[in-house]
Amino acid sequence: MIKFSFVVLLLFAFSNISLAQTTKKINSKKAIICLTYDDALETQLTTALPQLDSFGFKATFFLNSIQGSSESVKIGQTPEAVLGWTNAARNGHELANHTLFHACPEKLGWDKSISIETYTVERIITEIKTQTTLLSLLDPSRKIRSFAFPCGNFMIGNIDYTLIIKKQNLVTYARAGGDSNSIVTNFKTLDPIKVPSWHVWTGTTLNELIAYAEKVKKSGGMGVYQFHGVEGQIFQITSATHRAFLKYLKDHEEDYWVTTFSEAMDYATKQ
Ligand SMILES: [Zn+2]
Repeated sequence: MIKFSFVVLLLFAFSNISLAQTTKKINSKKAIICLTYDDALETQLTTALPQLDSFGFKATFFLNSIQGSSESVKIGQTPEAVLGWTNAARNGHELANHTLFHACPEKLGWDKSISIETYTVERIITEIKTQTTLLSLLDPSRKIRSFAFPCGNFMIGNIDYTLIIKKQNLVTYARAGGDSNSIVTNFKTLDPIKVPSWHVWTGTTLNELIAYAEKVKKSGGMGVYQFHGVEGQIFQITSATHRAFLKYLKDHEEDYWVTTFSEAMDYATKQ
């Protein structure tokens, strides 16, 4: 009986050690949260970024089609988008690649001329390389970047082009799509070129945003929010919801490591 108790005691001691190690992981936090924003939308510059900065959070912006000089901007003036994204990068936000023209399947409503069905693998690779070059003009601090698949699609015909991206080392990591059940729970089996995310839909509430974060916390893993418009434009959530969610994350700083997609993936791939 004494022996048995001793073994039980030992087991208990070890289980406590492993528990302590588990709760200690992820930069002393319980879970990783990545705030990502797609499509270089104007409301991200006018609303999301100032709110992120006011809470001191760094986010990832997957950019396509950044407008340069045009008729609406006088030659000689810095275009708003160029200025905005350059400043975002200077403030520690991550500028990441979302192709140049954002081709998606026709069935999602894309015009035939810009649908992924008309693409070749060579064309998408050229777009990714071109966008990487363009982003390095806004932010020279990185040569190779993270990537997000337009519309979460990685098929061109019957070719999965993630394999070509990997082979050619075109990007560091890539974000795929998903829903509010898409949580990374196992860093060891995670494909760094198909990282799931929650495509946050129009009108998503504060409670829903928090519920996902809490699920991520419970899993001890990583949750990637895929936002679009904030108070305007596509898949929009309100400015008040966005701000309140950032406040929730700030109020629970001891639980969540809120960081950029690349920084989170640097951590995840080392595990
Ligand atoms: Zn997109």
